[in-house]
Amino acid sequence: PRLANQIAAGEVVERPASVVKELLENSLDAGASQLDIDVEQGGVRRIKIRDNGTGIMKDDLSLALSRHATSKIITLDDLEAVRTLGFRGEALASISSVSRMHLTSQAEGESEAWRVEAEGKDMATAVRPASHPQGTTIDVRDLFFNTPARRKFLRTEKTEFTHLEEVVKRLALSRYETGFRLSHNGKQVYDLRPVTDQLHAEHRLATLLGKKFIENSLTLDVEAAGLRLWGWIGLPTFSRSQADLQYFFVNGRVVKDKLVAHAVRQAYRDVLYNGRHPTFVLYLELDPATVDVNVHPTKHEVRFRDGRLVHDFLFSRIHKVIADVRP
Ligand code: ADP
Ligand code: MG
Repeated sequence: PRLANQIAAGEVVERPASVVKELLENSLDAGASQLDIDVEQGGVRRIKIRDNGTGIMKDDLSLALSRHATSKIITLDDLEAVRTLGFRGEALASISSVSRMHLTSQAEGESEAWRVEAEGKDMATAVRPASHPQGTTIDVRDLFFNTPARRKFLRTEKTEFTHLEEVVKRLALSRYETGFRLSHNGKQVYDLRPVTDQLHAEHRLATLLGKKFIENSLTLDVEAAGLRLWGWIGLPTFSRSQADLQYFFVNGRVVKDKLVAHAVRQAYRDVLYNGRHPTFVLYLELDPATVDVNVHPTKHEVRFRDGRLVHDFLFSRIHKVIADVRP
């Protein structure tokens, strides 16, 4: 089974950034309000993530590392309406099969913490007592130490860290009520406090995307036909040569979707020339039953039940905002 995990790891674990994504999503699913992320050497040497979520019970610790051990789906109906970020029960098994992992946790309502360790294919079965406040710490060292072929595909420390930071950024932009602290090689990159109001949301946005974006954007918040769209739209004058400041979230998940991209491009059509790209941080909220966000475990596609409705809504609302400020 550990070999199967290594094979599955190829799907889920491509680089340090994908490890961070899976671990942070687990922490968020566990209801954590504070996430501390410490990485070394772009995450290749070490990724340590600590959360204050519900934790994992002693008896479930080893289980959490085995394949298809998910606590998130109980019935087929659940599968239909997954609201949690992860649900396949593959991530921890996959990551631990290609690294040296320590998993330490104290479950809610318990007074003791416990730890399991796994090293590549060798899984430590013994659960040992540990010291930890409520929540979970996952410490992943030496990613791909036992899969040299995969290690070869890793880029420079700087590139790997850039990918990793992008993952943290996206999650931080989708969970304002959660605190995120990130450090690289012992140096703090940022410490984002939990946010409850618009002013502090903009502060977080400025930290992550630059003050210039906030100063050159408009806010919107509109609702129609069960769809809500809110966020920040960069002024046409703040367009970029790269599509690097485009964030679109559907029900709290980052999405890269053709239909969405098309609607936004159309909305900016009359004001953008010379291949420049719009900038935006937008949140679409709709009934989860009308959208499938789990088309692929790592790709960011979605399938809307009524694509036409969503497209027209996005286009018309964004176009209206832009038309109002047209030079
Ligand atoms: P999935 O998220 O798809 O269920 P994972 O392999 O990512 O599968 O995690 C396996 C299980 O381990 C989860 O279902 C959850 O019960 C538990 N788990 C993992 N990380 C955490 C965490 N940070 N806090 C609490 N439970 C966790
Ligand atoms: Mg998961």
